Amino acid sequence: MAYRDISYCKNVGAKRADILRKELGVHTALDLLRQYPYKYIDRSRFYKIAELEDEDTYVQIIGEVTEWHTVGIGKAQRLSAMFNDGTHQCELVWFKGVQYVKLQRGVKYLLFGKPSRFQHVYNFVHPELTPMSKVTPEMTQGLEPYYNTTETMKRHGLNSKAMRTMIAGLLPDLRQGVPDTIGADILQRYRLMSLTDALINVHFPKDTPSMQNARARLKFEELFYIQLQLLRQMKRRELNPGFAMPTVGSRFHALYKSLPFDLTGAQKRVIHEIHDDLKSGHQMNRLLQGDVGSGKTLVALLCCLLAVDNGYQACIMAPTEILANQHYETLKAFLAPLGDAVHVALLTGSVSAKNRVPIHNGLMNGTIHILIGTHALLEDAVQWNNLGFVVIDEQHRFGVAQRAKLWTKNQTPPHILVMTATPIPRTLAMTVYGDLHVSIIDELPPGRKPVQTIHYSIIRQAQIYSFLLKQIQEGRQIYVVYPLIKENESMDLEDLQNGYNKLCEAFPECRISMVHGQMKAADKDLQMQRFASGETQILVATTVIEVGVNVPNATVMVIQNAERFGLSQLHQLRGRVGRGGDQSYCILLTNDEISTDTRKRMNIMVETNDGFRIAEADLQLRGAGDIEGTQQSGTPFDLHIANLATDGQILTLARQAAKDILEPDPLLEDEMNRIYKRRLDTLRIEAHNWSDIS
Ligand code: ADP
Ligand code: MG
Repeated sequence: MAYRDISYCKNVGAKRADILRKELGVHTALDLLRQYPYKYIDRSRFYKIAELEDEDTYVQIIGEVTEWHTVGIGKAQRLSAMFNDGTHQCELVWFKGVQYVKLQRGVKYLLFGKPSRFQHVYNFVHPELTPMSKVTPEMTQGLEPYYNTTETMKRHGLNSKAMRTMIAGLLPDLRQGVPDTIGADILQRYRLMSLTDALINVHFPKDTPSMQNARARLKFEELFYIQLQLLRQMKRRELNPGFAMPTVGSRFHALYKSLPFDLTGAQKRVIHEIHDDLKSGHQMNRLLQGDVGSGKTLVALLCCLLAVDNGYQACIMAPTEILANQHYETLKAFLAPLGDAVHVALLTGSVSAKNRVPIHNGLMNGTIHILIGTHALLEDAVQWNNLGFVVIDEQHRFGVAQRAKLWTKNQTPPHILVMTATPIPRTLAMTVYGDLHVSIIDELPPGRKPVQTIHYSIIRQAQIYSFLLKQIQEGRQIYVVYPLIKENESMDLEDLQNGYNKLCEAFPECRISMVHGQMKAADKDLQMQRFASGETQILVATTVIEVGVNVPNATVMVIQNAERFGLSQLHQLRGRVGRGGDQSYCILLTNDEISTDTRKRMNIMVETNDGFRIAEADLQLRGAGDIEGTQQSGTPFDLHIANLATDGQILTLARQAAKDILEPDPLLEDEMNRIYKRRLDTLRIEAHNWSDIS
């Protein structure tokens, strides 16, 4: 039955089938069964009107209609009725389809709907009203499933209830069984329901535990196949050849010796992990995670030198021009003691055509060892002599297409190191970057004083000004950041300009820089430069300074309208201070009245400096779809039932199960694993990911 054309299924027919195909991509009976409910309403429970609470979810009540009247005519008609459950009354209202509502006195009805309260009286708008004589036992049994439908579907009467009826029509056949997508051994090992049972119980559960078990099985299946796909890609690539870079050479050693500090244990460990990959003769695909300020840039540079010492070129790609410039300056400063041994160049959009010529030549003839740049380094004109190592900084800002281009430049793909701007929650890392090996820097350089974070309401602005003044008098510098949701929103820009003016008034003695996304790159750089060199004491900016900017003398980060920032963005901003030896502060300013959600976010920021904890909290509060970074690059997988915020445990098990299968049979060639190979082929999981590219 599973693959029967949907138009031949009970309660469907040609017209509905057509809509289902177009709107939901449902072609077969099984496709329809794979449309899972998004919620359930407990129909085994009956309420009394006296028990209702404001904004209750759906409830059902037994009672009689005592009186009713219609007002208005034609389309504006409205029917209002009083409903009595024997002790109390509520009101029922219909605005639409009034002519179809047939009410009778003296008949017991089952009322079903969502109450709302208006001046002490509960009312139900467009409730379901069924005479008790027509109420079947199934209607009030267990959990009733609710389905998402599209606008077009609703217009054709294909609402949640219609979905339910169509799916119910498949039930007798479903009970005969459908082929499972997971082998018996795994079902047993992880105590999972069969697919048949899961489908029956996800749609028509007899109670809450069976619904939960059914959903757990379906979530496992969904995550399992994504993991199987990702891990198979990873295994495949592990077999691909890559440039072998066995030597730890003179440039690496020279830089290492010239550093004014020791590497942290975590930095050393990560460099070892990367070097092991470089030695292996296979292409590296590695994700480097580490909190703000944990020293990822230096790790990247040392690894670039490993490549250079082995005769290869390297590049570092940054998401913005400011960052590329800064990396360039940072790297040049680090490399100064090495003199001419390492030749670094910078390529961004603002490098003139004339100045590009020597860069293009240097890349082609191999005299440039390391290129730092923005997207500009993906342009066709950029041809390498032998690019062997690529670092992608703050990766989430890059689109998939752009990454793909980078890869096709070489016959043998270069080693790839992806660095994230902020830590990502574990579950997200396992899915978004599930086909990358992961290195984590979980230790900050010693001697850092943790940034103190304070949450203030905007009405205490004056107090803050006096604090800022004190800091400036002590010789420190200050960031003041304004939100900018879209870089072209003129209102936001006005806020920024007003803020700048206010600060000029409040601090007449100070010099103030201003930076925003609409400025010309050269002006931006000039202002940043003035702040970085200490010429200006305050930098007023939009989030263009979010990532990577490094001014150790800046000790205060003031964030205006902090409620408009996501948690990881706040954490990023905070990471701009606390980079020198002085105690630093982050001041979160919000409106006086804030939502519970905002309060939670501010509290988390005040409580912890741990980026990994913040990332987890962000995921819990906002759900996976909204997590910064995944949005820009597109959440890589459409999850239909699993939820990365809540299903971490299932995900871990699913990944383990996938690993166990691939360990002895990385390419799924074994006859025993045919079921998985076949299913992967039909699923064609679109990994908008590294795996697409190679
Ligand atoms: P990230 O890119 O991870 O946010 P950075 O690479 O910008 O961090 O490093 C932050 C600062 O710490 C830089 O000024 C860098 O030179 C310095 N730094 C890096 N590693 C160490 C270390 N092991 N000890 C002391 N300072 C370090
Ligand atoms: Mg950085």
